[in-house]
Amino acid sequence: MGESFPRILSFHLRFPDRERAHPIMVGAGLVDRCGTLLKEAGLGGTAALVSDTIVGTYYGERIQRSLEEAGFTVLPLLLPPGETTKTLNTAAELYRHLAQGGVGRDGVLIGLGGGVVLDLAGFVAATYMRGIAFVSIPTTLLAMVDAAIGGKTGVDLPEGKNLVGAFYPPHLLLIDPTALNTLPPAEWRNGMAEVVKAALIGDPGLWQQLVDNPARWATKPGEEALLTLLSRSIAVKIQIVEHDPLETRGEREWLNLGHTFGHAFERISGYQVPHGEAVAAGLVAAAVLSGRLGLLEESELPEQLERVLRGLGLPTRWRIWLAQRGVEATPEEVIAAMGTDKKRRGGRLRLVLIHRPGLVRTYSDVPYEPILQALEETAV
Ligand code: ADP
Ligand code: ZN
Repeated sequence: MGESFPRILSFHLRFPDRERAHPIMVGAGLVDRCGTLLKEAGLGGTAALVSDTIVGTYYGERIQRSLEEAGFTVLPLLLPPGETTKTLNTAAELYRHLAQGGVGRDGVLIGLGGGVVLDLAGFVAATYMRGIAFVSIPTTLLAMVDAAIGGKTGVDLPEGKNLVGAFYPPHLLLIDPTALNTLPPAEWRNGMAEVVKAALIGDPGLWQQLVDNPARWATKPGEEALLTLLSRSIAVKIQIVEHDPLETRGEREWLNLGHTFGHAFERISGYQVPHGEAVAAGLVAAAVLSGRLGLLEESELPEQLERVLRGLGLPTRWRIWLAQRGVEATPEEVIAAMGTDKKRRGGRLRLVLIHRPGLVRTYSDVPYEPILQALEETAV
């Protein structure tokens, strides 16, 4: 395309209630240039670098060096990896480390890691001293294409995931595809489930690429293909978030495609299954249900979707997949886990369904019977 390497793509996500845009940069080598980029964004002072022990070991030092070369004082803070870290207790520990480390209102908090670290770090940045500058550096595919974009931050409660949080778009979001070089294959596949979701919601061209050769995307592809995959998935998310930044107009709910089923699978398993796998199985159920309700413009879509997911090494049949993970469940139990008590009593659920790749809509009164049939059809 004529550009010289490294190629940097820039996006700007506009949040209506703030004057500043939410700049997103995608390009190889951003990790080593972060100090300069933060400076150019007008940030300074003490930089708290929040990561988990795995990601911190891989990329912490490089980032710290880049920040120090740009004149920042760096306060590294490492957390144990995994969802169990995303709590108010950890947030409280971080607040205290920030206070003890002398991070003031002019400081900056950098989140480096997957969705867990970024959700937590963003929430701490949003609330410490009523909000300090936040920079997000995602290192999983899932976080790059989904979790890090759109300003959602938060922590879990014992009563449920993400029950406490804030909309707090980062001052700068740096996506360096080379950070995926160390990502375990299972985490790559997990992220691909969200890429498939994004393609179905808003990019028929990307969908076609997945259909044409799913195996090509089963592991991390070459630099150009990876950049295409990232930028197209990110563009889908940006477009939706810009139309409905605070999830009040409805479009943002489309991003839940496959997730109402997926969350039910996760809940039933006691959150022992990976999110991406749950979303994959959930997408299949949603596609089959869309067909049963007569919404699908292309009847072959569920079959295509299963082929794509299988090619990516993701599950498609929820009951077999759960059984492989030692979890038994009936379709009725899945439906029971899908909604709140109130929704269950009415027997009708709110679901995002597919018309065709690039056209999904939310339906608020989906009757029980077709959902049950779709779950029976996609069980084994
Ligand atoms: P997500 O919510 O984005 O799926 P998590 O924050 O739960 O991601 O991270 C998943 C796991 O992958 C964690 O154990 C984390 O330490 C690890 N991880 C994240 N990014 C990388 C990376 N680039 N290389 C190696 N391991 C990583
Ligand atoms: Zn998801």
